[in-house]
Amino acid sequence: MKRSRFARRGALNREADQLTRLAAGLAASASRIEDDFWERRLAELVDKLLRTGNENTLGVALDHLQGSNGRAYDALADLIESRAEGGLIGANGGEFEAALFAAPLLAWSRFTIPSGPLPAATLAAAAAQLQAHVLADGTRLALADFLYSPDQLPHGFVETWRLANQLARAAADDKHARIDPRQLPETTRFISDTRYLIGAVLAPRGKALFRWQEEDGSREQAATQWTVQGGAALQPLFTGCALEPLLPDVFHAACRNADQGLRVYALRAAMAFLQTVLNVKAQQLRAVVAPFSDERLEEYRVGFTLADASEVVHGVVWPLLGAEDETTDTAGQIEALLEESGIGGVVVLEQRFPLEFCDDCGMPLYPTPEGETAHAELPEDLPQAPSHLH
Ligand SMILES: [Zn+2]
Repeated sequence: MKRSRFARRGALNREADQLTRLAAGLAASASRIEDDFWERRLAELVDKLLRTGNENTLGVALDHLQGSNGRAYDALADLIESRAEGGLIGANGGEFEAALFAAPLLAWSRFTIPSGPLPAATLAAAAAQLQAHVLADGTRLALADFLYSPDQLPHGFVETWRLANQLARAAADDKHARIDPRQLPETTRFISDTRYLIGAVLAPRGKALFRWQEEDGSREQAATQWTVQGGAALQPLFTGCALEPLLPDVFHAACRNADQGLRVYALRAAMAFLQTVLNVKAQQLRAVVAPFSDERLEEYRVGFTLADASEVVHGVVWPLLGAEDETTDTAGQIEALLEESGIGGVVVLEQRFPLEFCDDCGMPLYPTPEGETAHAELPEDLPQAPSHLH
């Protein structure tokens, strides 16, 4: 079952009740022809709720199904996501298929990872690379003139739908879309994080949106070319950062893929970061891995120490995603990744810790080799470290 990004509580109203009934019908359907019946009715209702800004009813229906009917929950979540991120629009006397897409960029830096308004030249360069390697021939494209950090992404389905509409209209007018930075929250700074280019692509109805839907295209080829060419076009913006572009895709799929990608990336980035700032070899580092739970198991946290010390110098959070739970071998996966990076030792703690954060600065507390939790602090007397990243 997918995890809902937003927790809500409330009673079922008439429309929420109708949503759960239609979703249960879709989940129980055993044929494409019956699927189609339920999907059309669901889509009509979901579209109305998105259009009227009724986030709460969507949330209440999802909450209700999450506890009672997992398959119907998945069916409804899929349908709401797809209606929020795409659809048909009429423009210039024709009908177009529109999709909101995201191009996630994984980055790490000792300095600041950029975010915020994008200069026109960067937008033009990114759009040219997207058209050349990611989007199908004959499509139109609009980008948001803003580089999003995770906490700036649209909150909820209605906001996603509104952004999709704004961008699709801009694409129909062959313009990029202006985003007002004052409406978005400040970014929290991390050593490694994701940034998102967000845009809309328009194709004449029934035609391909993405390069890999064309006969001579493939996802692998698009990923390779975008990573190299798109990466080169964006690198000037990411001065002092290591940058790894992921394959752009429709909005929700791209965000999920980025969440997965960032977990692995953040561990490797932590190893590279510590070797650089502490001027040590991977072999001289040690990691302590432990599960952290609230009402359920939420995440693993990894505290890094020098091999012969117990002070936590840096930490990484590995959130559970999608259907992952305590039956997933998450600790094994983290351990294997750390060992691949040449680390001196890994301590896996079996005991579960409460999901605690520092009272002063809000940063997560990390496990220590002694089985306690601590604030991560770099030593104050850092050795002289090379100032360039590769
Ligand atoms: Zn603190």
